[in-house]
Amino acid sequence: MFKTLRILILLLVLLTVAGTTWLGRWQAQSWKRPQVVTLYPINAGGDAATEAYLDRLDESAFAGLEPYFKEQAARYGVALSQPVRIVLGRRVRALPPPVPRDGSVLSAISWSLRMRWWAWRETPPSSPVPDVRLFLMYHPTDFASALPHSTGLEKGRLGLVHVFASRSQAGPNQVVIAHEALHTFGATDKYDPITLMPRFPDGYAEPQAEPRLPQARAELMAGRVPLRENEARIPADLTETLIGPVTALEIGWVK
Ligand SMILES: [Zn+2]
Repeated sequence: MFKTLRILILLLVLLTVAGTTWLGRWQAQSWKRPQVVTLYPINAGGDAATEAYLDRLDESAFAGLEPYFKEQAARYGVALSQPVRIVLGRRVRALPPPVPRDGSVLSAISWSLRMRWWAWRETPPSSPVPDVRLFLMYHPTDFASALPHSTGLEKGRLGLVHVFASRSQAGPNQVVIAHEALHTFGATDKYDPITLMPRFPDGYAEPQAEPRLPQARAELMAGRVPLRENEARIPADLTETLIGPVTALEIGWVK
């Protein structure tokens, strides 16, 4: 009797989890109302220059994002006048759990769970209620090495985005923010994980172009503009990127 009851309860829990995941995905990809993407700035290294930059940070540093999503969505016939709404949330003082370096599947799963738990505890209240939460890790422009890898999670609909604390970097910063935001809508990367080169054809903004290289723009989920067979550059801002048809299909812009 008890055993049957336990199995029933377990089944109910599993069904609820599956249902919530499905509902979340359906909501994220139905594009019936604007999706609220809230940005939470964090001073990653705790330095004074970044602190001063964040004290003055306002929405104008993200002004390119909403029109970009509107323009790209319209290309695929999404009728919403504002598919994505960007909200600048309050600063978060706590640091997220460090991303594991070993790259194993198990540590990635464990980090994703700890990250979701951390986000659940540390997200400051804001209005409107966010659909997607992106935690922006700000680094000084003289940051010694390459920025850590940014991550966007579809499950939990949140992301950890590494950006530069400088007005002059507003362009590239917004490219990274848009890229990670799309991961939370179900988009996948379109570059080779080893070489970081955009994959042909889905990682190319204009795969039909003749000659194929150099390309003028980047596919957003490939992240780079292919120049030569083994050379690609980071786009200067969102106007040098577009959302390709495979990504549009993944995020529900094309049915
Ligand atoms: Zn990515």
